[in-house]
Order: sequence, then C-alpha cells, then structure tokens
Amino acid sequence: MITRLGEAWKAGWQVRIACAAGKGHAMKKHPMCTFATDLDMKTLMIAKGYNFPIDGLRDRLMCPECQACDMRVMYFPPGDNQREIDVTTKPKPRRWGTW
Ligand SMILES: [Zn+2]
Repeated sequence: MITRLGEAWKAGWQVRIACAAGKGHAMKKHPMCTFATDLDMKTLMIAKGYNFPIDGLRDRLMCPECQACDMRVMYFPPGDNQREIDVTTKPKPRRWGTW
C-alpha cells in the first residue's frame, strides 16, 4: 500500500488538487470556487520529502484563488484513469471552530 509521496512518485501516480470552498461552508464569503490544477508529483516529492505522507498534503495546501484552506487532493494511479484514490475523507480539524 502506498502511503508516502516518494512511493506514489515511483509508482507513477498523478496528483490533482481542487478547491473545496463553497461545499458546506455557508458562512464563508466565497460561495463557490472552482480552482483545480494538476501538481507535479516529482516536484512535490522533492519539496516535501520522500517520506511525506500522501494523506498529509491536504493540510499544507491553500487555494490561490480564494485563500481557503479546504483543498481536495486526488491521486490517480497510472493506467487506471477511472479510479481516483481519495485520501482526504478524514475530517479536517477546524481552526476557528464552527459558529
Ligand atoms: Zn478556492
């Protein structure tokens, strides 16, 4: 099982991120943000380190469009474009609580 960025890079995984703002955040002032982009797995692995956990990436990201810290991270193994590995299903701790 692949749990590290370096392992995912060696296995040829692709990674894509998308802004999650606007989904379940009625109090925020950015009701819908559609920012999404592919990230380069090699650059990411070099920047974060070979042993960086793939499910820890979400906590380090911020949307460049709306500055929301809610980002969705999707991993795509090679040769299986229909399958998305979503490691972001764990609830993220709220920094300011829910009002
Ligand atoms: Zn956004």
